[in-house]
Amino acid sequence: MRAEAYDTDALRAQFPILRRTVGEAGAPLVYLDNTATSQTPGCVVQAIVDGYTRTKANVHRGVHTLSQEATDAMEATRRRVQRFIGAESHEEIIFTRGTTEAINLVAASYCSLLQPGDEILVTVMEHHSNIVPWQLAAERYGLKVKAVPLNDDLSTLDLDAYASLLGPRTRVVAFTAVSNVLGTVNPVRRMVDMAHAAGAVVLVDAAQAVAHERVDVRAWDADFLAFSSHKMYGPTGVGVLYGRRGLLDRMPPYQGGGEMIAHVDIESSTWADLPFKFEAGTPDFVGIAAFHKAIDWMESTGIEAIAAHEESLLLRAESELATLPGVRIFGRAPGKCAIISFLMGTEASAYDIGMLLDQMGIAVRTGHHCAQPLMRALGVSGVARASFAAYNTPAEVDAFIAALRRIHKIFRLG
Ligand code: PLP
Repeated sequence: MRAEAYDTDALRAQFPILRRTVGEAGAPLVYLDNTATSQTPGCVVQAIVDGYTRTKANVHRGVHTLSQEATDAMEATRRRVQRFIGAESHEEIIFTRGTTEAINLVAASYCSLLQPGDEILVTVMEHHSNIVPWQLAAERYGLKVKAVPLNDDLSTLDLDAYASLLGPRTRVVAFTAVSNVLGTVNPVRRMVDMAHAAGAVVLVDAAQAVAHERVDVRAWDADFLAFSSHKMYGPTGVGVLYGRRGLLDRMPPYQGGGEMIAHVDIESSTWADLPFKFEAGTPDFVGIAAFHKAIDWMESTGIEAIAAHEESLLLRAESELATLPGVRIFGRAPGKCAIISFLMGTEASAYDIGMLLDQMGIAVRTGHHCAQPLMRALGVSGVARASFAAYNTPAEVDAFIAALRRIHKIFRLG
């Protein structure tokens, strides 16, 4: 779809939440916190309602109609996800609660196969959910966590440093495809190839990538991939871990309980086949079934069309921001995603900006964005962040800029 054929009005009409107002003044909601979570179209909400009103029954264990329908819906989503990310088999798709749980699964399970002194390489631009699970594993198994720094542009990863940090003890490399603060799109395939050449396996955090670009695990040659439904117009509480079959087969279960066993005795148990070995307990099968609709929605809207639309909003916002003296933008990588992290002068804190924007109906996120090591590298304690999605409009960008101009005046920034 060409950008000019993109019908934002028709698209917005599908999102009930976008009709609401905010605050006592009843300002129309301008939702620019899409990096944290994106909104959900009516078809996905309806799928959740259908799940609770028509087919709610526990999955995989029942012979009755409802249980079989619920199971079919969940397993259909698994195959949908497999096609969506180009995985070889649906058995390589494991449902989790989100990106965070997917990474914790790999950190806890894969790292148990490593030797003391082995190394895990992350980057300084990771979300805490791609740092802390590795630290926990490092403490447990005597491993070391190292991080790739930024270039002097404070936007892109220093790939020379990456090459020199990849050593004979590097066993896992874990990095984000897209920074949730800088919007930087990392050269995934190149970084994966470098890690593989050093003998490491690679986990790609695709939490920010999946809603903005076509993700293909085979094109990336990723060993593990993690992402969350709620950032791709889907329900909360659902995420995906993709893992290469050969690796998942070798890994011990992450949690024990129902679903993940083949046989249980009091002394010991054996495990179910993939993917169930890693899916202990009752999953959010209603959410998983509705996630199917979210993927359908994204693909029928067109991932490339959404990305082109978001890019046009980003360019519009950035060119206006450039006219406001004292605005500092963090993240200048070419081809970045539609995320603008910024500060205004030194007087207005990120929190001030966020609060004032909220009073004008504009939702942005403020703070460290679960990326404290990155904040330290940028030399700030927090930033304000506006991020765009399929349903945002040029008029909303203009409202955002007009609101920033008012804040600019309040703080007498020039
Ligand atoms: N990784 C990145 C790059 C993110 O932006 C986020 C959330 O913002 C996460 C991981 C964590 O995702 P979740 O909270 O859905 O587990």
